[in-house]
Amino acid sequence: MPESERGTPSSPVLSRPIVDPDECKGCQRCVVACPKGVLRVRPGLNRRGVRPVEYTGAGCTGCVMCFYTCPEPYAIRVERPDRGVRVPQRSPAAETGEVPTGQR
Ligand code: SF4
Ligand code: SF4
Repeated sequence: MPESERGTPSSPVLSRPIVDPDECKGCQRCVVACPKGVLRVRPGLNRRGVRPVEYTGAGCTGCVMCFYTCPEPYAIRVERPDRGVRVPQRSPAAETGEVPTGQR
């Protein structure tokens, strides 16, 4: 993380969703799931020909609901600097849809 994004005790870096506009398929599941209503559809089309979502820029609590509701593995992640957590770290099984042996 660049020095300028690390924040200080008087201006802490807040949680925020980060959307890859070209991985997003514009299904808006995250928009519906976000309890704070801080995700919205962007005006332009991405390389898939759909309108991806974006963060409005304020109000994210880092609840990660958007991440867990998103069907695209690399479309959205949530940065939570205060907790030292950066999502996603999906397991290979989650990305392939396979159920690990012994858990069927
Ligand atoms: S982490 Fe929670 S509050 Fe932040 S954009 Fe995602 S769903 Fe909304
Ligand atoms: S749920 Fe994922 S794919 Fe669907 S609009 Fe949100 S970021 Fe894009």
